[in-house]
Amino acid sequence: MFFYWNKGESQTGLNNIKTKIIPMTNRFSELFGEHPFEKNGFATMNSSFTWGGMENQTLTSLMPNGYTNENLVSHEYAHQWFGDMITCATWADIWLNEGFATYGEALWYEYTSGYSRYKTDITANATGYLNGNPGRAIYVPSWAITTPTTSQLFNTAVTYYKGACVLHMLRYVLGDSAFFSAINEYAANPALKFGTITTDDFINQINTSTNQDLTWFFNQWVKVANHPLYSTQYSVNNNDSSARVLIAQTQSTGAFWKMPIELKFSLMNGTDTTVRVFNSVNKDTFTFKFPSVPVSMVFDPNNNIVLKTATTQKVLSIRDDVITPGEYSLKQNFPNPFNPSTTIEFVIPRSENVVVQIFDVLGRTIETMVNQRMEQGVYTFIWNAKQYPSGIYYYRLQTENFIQTKKMSLIK
Ligand SMILES: [Zn+2]
Repeated sequence: MFFYWNKGESQTGLNNIKTKIIPMTNRFSELFGEHPFEKNGFATMNSSFTWGGMENQTLTSLMPNGYTNENLVSHEYAHQWFGDMITCATWADIWLNEGFATYGEALWYEYTSGYSRYKTDITANATGYLNGNPGRAIYVPSWAITTPTTSQLFNTAVTYYKGACVLHMLRYVLGDSAFFSAINEYAANPALKFGTITTDDFINQINTSTNQDLTWFFNQWVKVANHPLYSTQYSVNNNDSSARVLIAQTQSTGAFWKMPIELKFSLMNGTDTTVRVFNSVNKDTFTFKFPSVPVSMVFDPNNNIVLKTATTQKVLSIRDDVITPGEYSLKQNFPNPFNPSTTIEFVIPRSENVVVQIFDVLGRTIETMVNQRMEQGVYTFIWNAKQYPSGIYYYRLQTENFIQTKKMSLIK
């Protein structure tokens, strides 16, 4: 590892980086695969270099006194994997270089100072995007052919900040284990290493690694401009300790963002509980029953959907007009596959007796989740399978007029 600097520059910054570069190499190698080059180094430039840094393959340029900025060094160093080892195929795909390098800054903060420091950095990126959003998508297909201006291409708010936030939200959707293994498989794929990547290739790669179709996720966050404006209402029924939640998006563009959403309820008995639902349509409603009356609800309590604005309002009641009369529905559980718990939602269009049961792969009933008369409504329950082995399970909704079974898979 070579370091070049100008006479008179701060030695404190340089000495700090000298102590950090090996742990940084090790950390990024763990996350993204072995450091891709035999040699590497950094060199500070003179004052005619107007950028913070430039990630030349194996010899990064830094601004004068650039060693004093550890954050800049971690960004440029992450580029050795994302930008130098695998680089964008066209200018339309530049976010795959800059979004990853910006996300690399947060990952280095997480390694040195913990998850909350990581999250502070991601939240700062989100604020930078929300304040500076130029109203275009991350991915602009025509840029593959026609080079935009430098300031459009390297727009900090979208190409860097929004790109990094999308990776954070992918981590939230997938969970840490699936996310980091997908990122590792991406960087370690011999077909991509020392080559180029398009946005669609990247989406296919993540779909293959995770064995899920996440095209919807990338389409909405990468190929559509702007972000969701959430307006959430909830009402509480003191008689049966239930809460009803209506999640609406109010952006005027007509775009809709599907996402898993966490809702944190504080109960009268002093405890709180967080549930996760999959918000797949606008004006989705969900009903939850608790052991004690819910007092208040926080939408996305950990602010994982960082690219949004949101308001939450407690109301006296939420109308049922989103339910089409006569329409039963048993939705696919979420997440799926899952470990150890998953959420199952169903719709009952009339008051009747309802049974919901879980079966193992041999068809044996292992749990009865619901067995009672229920009012018209949208219901959600969580099945915790921590005592059961990995495998395929079935859940069945049965009423006087309707029966449907769906499959889910528990992977431990
Ligand atoms: Zn960069």
